[in-house]
Amino acid sequence: MTTHFINNQRVPGSSGDTIPVLDPSDGQVFAHLARGNAEDIRKAVAAARKAADGGAWSQLAPVERGRLLHKLSDAILAHHDELWRLEMRDCGKPVKQAKLDATAVARYFEYYAGACDKLHGDTIPYTPGFAVMTFYEPHGVTGHIIPWNYPMQIFGRSVGGALAAGNACVVKPAEDACLSLLRIAELAAECGFPDGALNIVTGYGHEAGQALADAEGIDHISFTGSARVGTIIAQSAAKRHVPVTLELGGKSPQIVFADANLDEAIPVIINAIIQNAGQTCSAGSRLLIEASAYERVLAAVGQRIKALKVGPALTDCDVGPLIRANQLQRVNEFLASVRPERSEGSDARNASIVAQGSIVPEAPATGFYAKPTLIADVAADASLAQDEVFGPVLAAMSFKDEADAIRLANSTAYGLVAGVWTENGGRAMRMARAVKGGQVFINNYGAGGGVELPFGGVKSSGYGREKGFEALYGFSVMKTVVIKHG
Ligand code: NAP
Ligand code: MG
Repeated sequence: MTTHFINNQRVPGSSGDTIPVLDPSDGQVFAHLARGNAEDIRKAVAAARKAADGGAWSQLAPVERGRLLHKLSDAILAHHDELWRLEMRDCGKPVKQAKLDATAVARYFEYYAGACDKLHGDTIPYTPGFAVMTFYEPHGVTGHIIPWNYPMQIFGRSVGGALAAGNACVVKPAEDACLSLLRIAELAAECGFPDGALNIVTGYGHEAGQALADAEGIDHISFTGSARVGTIIAQSAAKRHVPVTLELGGKSPQIVFADANLDEAIPVIINAIIQNAGQTCSAGSRLLIEASAYERVLAAVGQRIKALKVGPALTDCDVGPLIRANQLQRVNEFLASVRPERSEGSDARNASIVAQGSIVPEAPATGFYAKPTLIADVAADASLAQDEVFGPVLAAMSFKDEADAIRLANSTAYGLVAGVWTENGGRAMRMARAVKGGQVFINNYGAGGGVELPFGGVKSSGYGREKGFEALYGFSVMKTVVIKHG
């Protein structure tokens, strides 16, 4: 059974209760987690407080903090094989994706290692006889609630930035995906991180997660997850006036104009929806196609989708299993709501399946496999066009012109990422400015990619930015010091 990781030690859960850990490839239990509660959170926050309030962590020079982060990045790479295998089994990630995630978490710590001693304030011209300076100071103790879809990557971007800014961290991963993070926390201790700088409590969201959001002694919360839970977290934090970063869901459009270079666009469009079996906040889950190219693009995308194979993580198929049974059920409910085949003369209110990939025969029946699916003629107000499926399901619809494309792109509650495919530079720029979201990709699409690139949403996709240098401003507070020197 695994334990929490508090104060650089493995700490058993105070209740003794456990949570089974499933392998999504076969649905079997292969480990147990400690089921954390408010008492465990209290211990972790106390350890972090000590580290932040005059403890060894808070006394480190920024350059020394940076060196520790760098050491951790190196240690992650040295344990790359162990970490990707853990993530693969815990989350059902195909080998290539799991390897990529283990590389990415090292890269986050590398990036933020270099940033520690570069976050500096300013001097401000003021009244004669005064000197004014600003400092970026850490909040103190930051809480991090992490989802199961990219545990290592989201840990890297969130905790990496918070540590770089000088905070001590308490992390509550999703109960479906904790194993790699517990191992990384152990590596941090081996690298010489002072006691209490990085603490992990495992458990359910409504227990350990809620306790973290409510905990006295937490100065900032970074939440990555669903819009529904984001609201709960923001309400909890508001009671104590604690600032929050919310990285929530999306229904991101991939917008294809008739002049697009389809040879380049189509593989990217496919990857943006099948990456991590579509369980990606920034999945390109809506395909908006200019009417004159609609049938041509549907046919080309459909052909690729048909060829896709779904299978156990270790077989490294194009698509792995979904995280758990109820996620598969959710995807299947969406598929059951549309017509199974597209007939001639389908109209815009008759969504139907154009193409589906296949599940390999060796996939255990007890695993959580969903076929990648292209659905055409989805109405803009249908649930399929409005709600996150969080599976490999691409909803296509057509638009008349640029104004119609903008209207459709902005027609959901979300605003996270958008992709625009056109050879017309002016139009590309107009679209980039008109689409509501945190990132817009022109003639490419990076589902959350790019450690250096600020990332986050507008509307129900959340607020605040992680990744890039920008994240450090969110993980700090500015203090202004005014000196009267006469
Ligand atoms: P979720 O249900 O909101 O859970 C996210 C995290 O919150 C988990 O650690 C969960 O714990 C915890 N949690 C649940 N209820 C809580 C509560 N009452 N108080 C405190 N914590 C609580 O989301 P999910 O299903 O795991 O993840 C998928 C969602 O995350 C999607 O909407 C996706 O778009 C979004 N996401 C966004 C980004 C981004 O950067 N914008 C990145 C990845 C994912 P348990 O799971 O252990 O219950
Ligand atoms: Mg798991």
